[in-house]
Amino acid sequence: MAKRSKARTIGELKASGYISVSIRQEMRRNLLAMIKARKEVFPGIVGYDDTVLPEIENAIISGQDIIFLGERGQAKSRIMRLLVNLLDEEIPVIKGCEINDNPFKPVCKQCRDIVAEMGDNTEIDWLPRGERYGEKLATPDIAINDLIGDVDPIKVAEGRYLSDELTIHYGLIPRTNRGIFCINELPDLTERLQVGLFNLMEERDIQIRGYHIRLPLDVFLVASANPEDYTNRGRIITPLKDRYGAQVRTHYPTTIEDEMTIVEAERRKFGGDECEYYLPQYMKEIIAEITQLARQSPDINQRSGVSVRVSIANTETILSNAIRRAVIEGEKLAVPRISDLPYIRTSTAGKIELESFEDTKEDKVIDDLIKKAVMNVFGRYYRVHLLEDIVGQFDGGFSVEASDSMSAKSYVRNVKEIIGLADAVKVVNDSERPEAIASAVEFILEGLHVNKRLNKSKVEGKTVYRR
Ligand SMILES: [Zn+2]
Repeated sequence: MAKRSKARTIGELKASGYISVSIRQEMRRNLLAMIKARKEVFPGIVGYDDTVLPEIENAIISGQDIIFLGERGQAKSRIMRLLVNLLDEEIPVIKGCEINDNPFKPVCKQCRDIVAEMGDNTEIDWLPRGERYGEKLATPDIAINDLIGDVDPIKVAEGRYLSDELTIHYGLIPRTNRGIFCINELPDLTERLQVGLFNLMEERDIQIRGYHIRLPLDVFLVASANPEDYTNRGRIITPLKDRYGAQVRTHYPTTIEDEMTIVEAERRKFGGDECEYYLPQYMKEIIAEITQLARQSPDINQRSGVSVRVSIANTETILSNAIRRAVIEGEKLAVPRISDLPYIRTSTAGKIELESFEDTKEDKVIDDLIKKAVMNVFGRYYRVHLLEDIVGQFDGGFSVEASDSMSAKSYVRNVKEIIGLADAVKVVNDSERPEAIASAVEFILEGLHVNKRLNKSKVEGKTVYRR
């Protein structure tokens, strides 16, 4: 189909048969069309298919404004931005209008005057959907003029009619007219501003510097908040709370698989390294398990939460330590091992808040999480009693050294020396590469240690496993 040239005036727009609808109708119509066509509405959002996403879709089909309640790092911002996909590719607006006026129904004084004068010859523009989204992080210092608008005292002094909209400097929300506006951390707005917001949403009029101004905006409002702030008495004025049609509770990934899928999609990837890398499945699981355990830990502040970003940063860290080792040792393949795990302290520490304030405790908390995670993941692959033959060979003083700075070769030697170890390695590793074997050997030795089958001690920076 040949692309028709777009209408450039109100007259041409009318002649094209264009029908203008409200933002709610537009989002609802496009959502239902996407659902019918089996199109993915929120691409890249993992683990919400049965919980969060149907609730959002119901809210949109109902035309309800949405408030997302959830701890940090639960993809709230990303979902809010993806709502833009539910808008038309572009919509017509009156050219030069600050608040994206509908050519068929102008709101601002300037546009009403132009249309009265020019009629069907009034020029229009086409606004792409990417420009119909606005967001603001609520802080106590945001004022009415930022969000809603201000009147120009000079023009008022000149004797203009007091509610004449010509004197308004529009704030962020009017500038997102016919779009989606999102307020992050809603409870941090001052009560005065909450009242202003409520009036704008409900009464379609606002009071600025004591002047009543009618402003029938067409905005889809979305907000986010930490659940505790939101339910705290007094943090949000009741009428505003009532006004949000849908409360959608977000959550962290409920399964290790979802956690790992997000990590794989989100972690930073660099090309062009000389060495390749390989991230064994059990190492991915250990990282995800650490995060999931952290979300249940009484030592960690659960109100601020433990984001998937912890898993992402930790994966990047162990991979980087493996790459660093490979470059030092001149190895061609970088494979993270158990002995790389202590380095995640640096990438975990800033992202969790401890319940107590002792700095020294932080390392201990993280070390305990690592130990527990190794234990859980090891238990998914091995039955310890089936490894007794390996353990037995440590009787009589035999020991094995391991370290994040040791080359892979010495681990391969262990596999030859210890009867049964090669078979145990095969459970988690099918690669012949020494670097991959080294990682699997460490996993098994550490697994035997956390299950109290082997002792572990630190000698000159190296870990020694023995009976
Ligand atoms: Zn206008």
